[in-house]
Amino acid sequence: MTSARTRERLVQRLAGHGISNLQVLDRVRSVPRHLFVDEALQSRAYEDSALPIGHGQTISQPYIVALMSQALLDGVDPSQPLLKVLEVGTGCGYQTAILSPLVRQIFSIERIRHLMGDTRTRLAQLGYQNIRFRHGDGMQGWPGQAPFDGILVAAAPAGIPQPLIDQLAVGGCLIIPVGPVGSQELMRVTRTEQGLEQENLCCVSFVPLLEGTG
Ligand code: SAH
Repeated sequence: MTSARTRERLVQRLAGHGISNLQVLDRVRSVPRHLFVDEALQSRAYEDSALPIGHGQTISQPYIVALMSQALLDGVDPSQPLLKVLEVGTGCGYQTAILSPLVRQIFSIERIRHLMGDTRTRLAQLGYQNIRFRHGDGMQGWPGQAPFDGILVAAAPAGIPQPLIDQLAVGGCLIIPVGPVGSQELMRVTRTEQGLEQENLCCVSFVPLLEGTG
């Protein structure tokens, strides 16, 4: 159930649904998603679906993780490597693992302390070294490390939090789902020398971005 063939089927499915960035597809092929979910759910880890990870949260659907990663990589100048990326909503760390080798450094914030602890251990065991974790409210961003070349948000606020926009570098982009449950849009906000550009990418369904810590 966790074989190379099973993973390859998932990669082909994502490619068929419009994921064309080869770096992203290669990461989906390599990251052992079954190690990010409970043992009882491991046989379903390479289905293209969200799964529970405890604390009332879910690991995102692989298609959505791939779509957000692709939107981030395609949103910046390909000749400039992504040096600093902020992730809001670490969850079980699957998205973090997908992005890790594609960027210089990831700063990842999660509001649920236990989830953060488990994820920190898991990613260290898997050998990821360019990730810094913080337990806190990601709506505030990570001012001490700003500006970021990329910001990726894995939970949906009603409107885009201003601190995240303020912490975006020129040439950088923010990938964020916005809106109430049942009516959310995935958006890409790019900071240019002239100001901000905003694109609606597609309709999505995320858990709400909550204020404060859990
Ligand atoms: N990409 C993650 C998705 C996790 S679900 C994965 O694949 O596992 C979204 C996560 O956002 C949850 O863990 C939730 O606790 C977290 N979250 C919600 N509001 C937050 C906030 N204000 N700051 C940081 N994390 C938040």
